[in-house]
Amino acid sequence: MIERALPEPDILYRALVEKDAAYDGLFFAGITTTGIFCRPVCTARKPKRNHVVFYPSARDALLAGYRPCKVCRPTAPPDETPQAVRALLADLGADPTLRLKDADLRARGIEPAGLRRWFKKHHGMTFQGYQRALRLGVAFGQLKQGGSTTAAAFDTGWESLSGFGEAFKALTGAAPSRAAGALITVARIETPLGPMLAGAVEGGVCLLEFVDRRMIETQIMRLKKLFRAALVPGRNPHLDRLAGELNRYFEGTLREFTVPLDLRGTPFQTRVWEALRGIPYGATRSYGEQARRLGGASSVRAVARANGDNRIAVIVPCHRVVGADGALTGYGGGLWRKRWLLDHEKASLCAAKRR
Ligand SMILES: [Zn+2]
Repeated sequence: MIERALPEPDILYRALVEKDAAYDGLFFAGITTTGIFCRPVCTARKPKRNHVVFYPSARDALLAGYRPCKVCRPTAPPDETPQAVRALLADLGADPTLRLKDADLRARGIEPAGLRRWFKKHHGMTFQGYQRALRLGVAFGQLKQGGSTTAAAFDTGWESLSGFGEAFKALTGAAPSRAAGALITVARIETPLGPMLAGAVEGGVCLLEFVDRRMIETQIMRLKKLFRAALVPGRNPHLDRLAGELNRYFEGTLREFTVPLDLRGTPFQTRVWEALRGIPYGATRSYGEQARRLGGASSVRAVARANGDNRIAVIVPCHRVVGADGALTGYGGGLWRKRWLLDHEKASLCAAKRR
């Protein structure tokens, strides 16, 4: 078991008071006056600041003598995808053109209103919207391979060409007849540091960011423009491989990612990102060192800016760059995540040495 650093207590307390779902599973709050521990999202009344102790895992809270709260059930896995939803997603993955109506959902034992809420929370869209986006993704693929608009529309379950055209344009910004751009397939991947948004094109992974990252909307806009692409939820072999590798990285058993990347950027950005990939697992370098390695001519500030523009967190390890004095400097995903990643890598190196 690797020890985890937690964010500052003030950040944790604010997350607890605000029931911030982004922190669910990341910490647990022991309430000293009741002897009970909770998830941050618990709906029970929140304790005063001086009556809370924070733990990185439910196990730690249990070992400290706290009992699990009956309201938020902190010992159940966080935010787990319900079994029925998992089966639904698997069926849609196998056949994205399935069109499930409320009656079909009820026949599967799923309450449509609850499902809508789940999709809103986890995918930022309704279930109907998600199905529509999946079908548009398939149609897009057909069009790119030279299929006719009519075939693409009817094969993917649209009842009218005009309806298809409108939905297509809303998603991609272009009419089906001009589907020339690329498609970025996106999926959410759950990690111990919170959910990440991953995206991939044919050539490889082009996006990996923490969902609550400050700049994520801007990053997505830039990505769409740079790739002249539409974002569509779905599955892609690179994303499947990425999820597996990330999982092993967070377990501490994977040091080098081998999933293909599409590091598109200016020539300078690409060089900076390649240089980041050269920093070994568990090691850190300063911005100055990075600049020197890039041949002196590049300023520290330009290197730092290109680091900040990195779109593929964790794999292109911008978290391994620190200030000249070793201080942790900015990180898009939050400083506490940067510290967590560095501690995690050092701890798994030490654990490997001990074995
Ligand atoms: Zn609770």
